[in-house]
Amino acid sequence: MKLARRMDSFEESATMEVAGRITALNAKGKDIISFAAGEPDFDVPEPAKEAAIKAIREGKNKYAPVAGNDQIKTAIVEFTSRQLGVDYAKSQCIVSMGAKHSLYNISQVLFDEWDEVIIFSPYWVTYPSQVLLAGAKPVFVNCRPENGFNPDMDELKSKITSATKAIILNSPCNPTGAVYSNETIRKIADIAVNDDIYLISDEIYDAIVYDGHKHLSPVQLGADVKDRTILVNGMSKSFSMTGWRLGHALGPEPIIKAMVKLQSQSTSNPVTPLMLAAAEALKDTAFFATRASEFKKRRDIIVGALNSMDGISCVVPKGAFYAFPNFNGWLGKKFDGEVIRDSAQLANVLIDHAGVGPVPGVAFGAEGYLRFSYAMATERIEEGMRRLKAFGERLA
Ligand code: PMP
Ligand code: GLU
Repeated sequence: MKLARRMDSFEESATMEVAGRITALNAKGKDIISFAAGEPDFDVPEPAKEAAIKAIREGKNKYAPVAGNDQIKTAIVEFTSRQLGVDYAKSQCIVSMGAKHSLYNISQVLFDEWDEVIIFSPYWVTYPSQVLLAGAKPVFVNCRPENGFNPDMDELKSKITSATKAIILNSPCNPTGAVYSNETIRKIADIAVNDDIYLISDEIYDAIVYDGHKHLSPVQLGADVKDRTILVNGMSKSFSMTGWRLGHALGPEPIIKAMVKLQSQSTSNPVTPLMLAAAEALKDTAFFATRASEFKKRRDIIVGALNSMDGISCVVPKGAFYAFPNFNGWLGKKFDGEVIRDSAQLANVLIDHAGVGPVPGVAFGAEGYLRFSYAMATERIEEGMRRLKAFGERLA
């Protein structure tokens, strides 16, 4: 079969692939604790469930405006105003099928062939592939563990060229759990303003921050920054509504309009009754604080366990729900006579022989690392860490 050339330009999502593989193995009777998918175990908020059932029963099941119905757009701009103190018009908002879809639309309407797009590395698996799919060129800037995985500013400056179109920012960060310092965000915003570059700010983990850190969005830094930023958020993480596939973008009207045009020829509106229900969920965010403290408990358990094991070191995440430990101390060792050479092989051996399923760091641009999503019950985390430790003791 001869597929389009563009299909060779990008990779399948490793997070989705590993999570799917573990689910299939467990369905066949294996017992693997999946640390793979970034998916909170909490249930969908009750008001959303009730409102979805009501909307379906009341016949609100027809097409809606391509950019999303008025109810959800009103709820999104009010939510953003409450959370960030920044106001948007509804014409600056588009709702899509998940934040991943919002980001895809942004890349398609903004990037031309040969444009350069700055991605901080380690990065969420999807950014480089979406940039490549648009024909543009990902340019990576390192975030080092000794800087709490904040981007290296000198390197950022050195990588800006006349072809740089945008910088993708993700704080709190998947996979590192970094929450960029205010100074870092300010410096990135200054560069964007001075060099006429767009900022794409993926803030899907905005409500999951620990230890008194506060989420700062570049759009809070003033009109000049807001006018060149596209803010992305969604219902998947803070609201545990991954399967509902609702994400949104807020930004300059011409960019949003272009995204609506693209969406009008690809998916049309997101699911009508689910948008109405999500609008209800967005009104009540009182549970964010208790959720964040529950995630913090889990973080402390997993990071404590990882750092107590020989050959593993893990920077303490300040937000999101991922631990991103370095396993270089385990690479080069033998398991059952076979040398473990890299993170992909290590993740596979752990899935097959330890009953523990992380995602290899190489998928996030960080060989030598593994990513563990800890959005699960503490007993499962503890059992997973016991298995990991027992496996480590069998390495020679
Ligand atoms: N951005 C980041 C950083 C993520 O981790 C995810 C997780 N899926 C997304 C965007 C997309 O989320 P969704 O499409 O489920 O809204
Ligand atoms: N964002 C989550 C993760 O990184 C879900 C999977 C995905 O959307 O790629 O695991």
